[in-house]
Amino acid sequence: MTDVLGEIKKFFSDLGLQLELGIKDSNLGACTGEWIVPDEKKELVSINPADGEPIASIIQADEAAYEKVISTAAEAFTSWRIVPAPVRGEVVRDLGNELRVFKDPLGRLVSLEMGKILSEGLGEVQEMIDMCDFAVGLSRQLYGPNMPSERPRHRMYEQWHPLGVVGVISAFNFPVAVWAWNAALAAVCGDTVVWKPSSDAPLTAVAVQHICNRVMKRHDLHGIFNLLIGPGRSVGERLINDERVPLVSFTGSTKMGRHVAETTARRFGRSILELGGNNAIIVADDADLDLVLRAVLFAAVGTAGQRCTSLRRLFLQKAIAPQLIERLVKAYPSITIGDPLEDGVLMGPLVNERAVADHLAALDAIREQGGEILCGGGRPDREGFFVEPTIVKAHPDMEIAREETFAPILYVFEYETFDEAVAMHNSVDQGLSSAVFTESMRTAEQFLSHEGSDCGIANVNIGTSGAEIGGAFGGEKHTGGGREAGSDSWKGYMRRQTCTINWGGELPLAQGVKFEVE
Ligand code: NAD
Repeated sequence: MTDVLGEIKKFFSDLGLQLELGIKDSNLGACTGEWIVPDEKKELVSINPADGEPIASIIQADEAAYEKVISTAAEAFTSWRIVPAPVRGEVVRDLGNELRVFKDPLGRLVSLEMGKILSEGLGEVQEMIDMCDFAVGLSRQLYGPNMPSERPRHRMYEQWHPLGVVGVISAFNFPVAVWAWNAALAAVCGDTVVWKPSSDAPLTAVAVQHICNRVMKRHDLHGIFNLLIGPGRSVGERLINDERVPLVSFTGSTKMGRHVAETTARRFGRSILELGGNNAIIVADDADLDLVLRAVLFAAVGTAGQRCTSLRRLFLQKAIAPQLIERLVKAYPSITIGDPLEDGVLMGPLVNERAVADHLAALDAIREQGGEILCGGGRPDREGFFVEPTIVKAHPDMEIAREETFAPILYVFEYETFDEAVAMHNSVDQGLSSAVFTESMRTAEQFLSHEGSDCGIANVNIGTSGAEIGGAFGGEKHTGGGREAGSDSWKGYMRRQTCTINWGGELPLAQGVKFEVE
């Protein structure tokens, strides 16, 4: 293994960051381009989940810092919206290039702080770069359609305007990519961005802000990308209640998302909600089982089951269930668990002790509800927040399988008919990602049809996790209905205006209405 900590230290010092604890004014948590020193010095310590040791500390935003950030972002919006979209795109291009320069150390930092393996940490930064590239192209394509007017010498069309300050509240498990999904699009759309990251991953957010600052300085810009690190119950609450923030893009649990939706709706603000999933694969009896095995392992065990798209439920046709279960139970113990920055490790730790407690509580509930633990179920004997990936033989009445436990627990169900499998698949509250494995065109098409999966993402012969940025990402039902990243998700960051122009000398009314004054 290379000297990971040494590399990250160099990355920090290149950015002017401190990797030590207790240096009270060193790593600040509020920024508009300028770092803001709060009056109250409330420290947040970032913990390495692989050994439970502190990495560095950050001074969180206080109320005055909050005010400074929001008012700066609101002020910056008035000039940023005037910059032509393709020119805004040039700034985002530069950001993507700067992320290319820092991809390696930033990816390592993601792994160090959040616990995903290095290849996934690097993949997350690649996703940020891909989003910037996507947004650059988009900056010349923010177009609306023309519609034929029913009135002579009239022209009708739609156009899109920037919204204002966009609040981005992100979850710990994609500590930097989710910001980029939102920030790259919002920026080319002409919005300014205020980011409140998860308190479980503050260092990666500080590092990203430093990278943004370097780019914005080159363009003589200020207040476009802003940072606010602080507790959800104070900083997050202020943000979702703030009338100056017309859109809050929230990624997190369904419980919190419901609160964000209600709070923003009460003030007629908008929200984009990317909430919990309870994702499933249906395996038909004609499936290629080698493909299934590989897909299940990555989707259920990858990121230690801490992806919103992680595979949680597996529906197996009765005829192939015994052999697939046998292969899975054999493969699970060969997964190397350990320090996510070490070569060969496939599963790192959970994010914190609370997540371990949730995992263990779910195992208790599984036993109580009649689930059979086929493998895993324990806690490895080592420092850090590690658990064993677990396979459970489940039955449809198990309430615990209807919840999202953010840990590597896979519930396996058997079914007889495909219709029965689809009904079980769709019976949960969440509706994020889904997949079918089959060689039959008819089965695949049924799954993709309106009689099939009710999720925002539906795949054939691919696992539930690992989406590309080109498509719109998001889920239905209690997953919140939001869409981010590719396709036309950008429309969520703009306001639509319908314009009708009369270039004739008459004033005809629509629908043939007459209103003549003699
Ligand atoms: P969480 O709900 O605990 O926290 C998410 C964010 O909300 C954090 O930044 C937190 O500080 C903030 N927050 C807490 N209280 C708040 C308040 N009162 N007002 C405003 N913000 C507040 O989620 P988590 O544990 O960080 O992440 C895991 C969850 O996120 C899982 O449910 C997962 O499925 C979901 N997730 C969904 C997607 C998706 O795209 N659908 C992607 C990633 C994660």
